[in-house]
Amino acid sequence: MKYFVIYLACAAFSFVILSACGANAVDQASSDPSGGDSMDIMSNLYQQKAAEYKALCLQAYNLAQQNVSDSIKAKRKMGLPLAVITDLDETALDNSAYEVWLYKHHMTYDSASWRHWCDSAIADTVPGSLSFFNWANDRHIAIFYVSNRDTAVLQKTMQNMSHLGFPQIDADHFYFETGHLSSKEPRRDTIEKKYNVVALLGDNLIDLDAAFDKASTATRNDEVYRLREKWGRRYIVFPNAVYGDWENALYHDFEKIHQTPYPTLQQRDSIRLSNLHGY
Ligand SMILES: [Mg+2]
Repeated sequence: MKYFVIYLACAAFSFVILSACGANAVDQASSDPSGGDSMDIMSNLYQQKAAEYKALCLQAYNLAQQNVSDSIKAKRKMGLPLAVITDLDETALDNSAYEVWLYKHHMTYDSASWRHWCDSAIADTVPGSLSFFNWANDRHIAIFYVSNRDTAVLQKTMQNMSHLGFPQIDADHFYFETGHLSSKEPRRDTIEKKYNVVALLGDNLIDLDAAFDKASTATRNDEVYRLREKWGRRYIVFPNAVYGDWENALYHDFEKIHQTPYPTLQQRDSIRLSNLHGY
């Protein structure tokens, strides 16, 4: 504990120094020699160590199981077969070891290191995921893994998941990102032509509803209330305080995302602080 406090104090000091550098620094997002993203320390600790994180995941999968169980009972003899759609990262697969690796190597996310992690096929499971998906598989529920991982890592991802014990690991059940189209709506539409999708699972709200595609922070927060009847029912949400569109929306006007570079770590720290409410 003593060393952890010292560690946090050093990280906080680094943060102050970085903030003082201002917003004119060149983009060193993937190789900043001053260190990784110290903001991620607590988020990763929460994901890896907090019993509350595990409880939230198990709670989410319990809700999904109840939803599917109710749908099985209600299903008429005629009709489309039942299915669930799930995201992978931080919903079924735990990539926190990658995030910690980044920090320890004084790096932040980039596509090359992410590709290496995916090709290593060593992601862990999110608590409750294996039990739920195998329970659903035993009841002949189709499972579709809809992820924005690149198709280049499809085989390694399938290898990773097969080794972990996930069911329905074949190309027909995987829908990865194609053509840099991050919206999952077209893929959901394709699946729903042939299946009655009774639950969608994800840690990013774009995993669940197109209302959140490229949405601002204000729109995201408005939409979450508009869709209030769906949470814990058709839409099952998982905790992810490390990354996601909730964070990206702080930095970007999504409409201009291809016109502006991703902010530097220093710029992100400044934006984060400016978004906090105090008294
Ligand atoms: Mg995810």
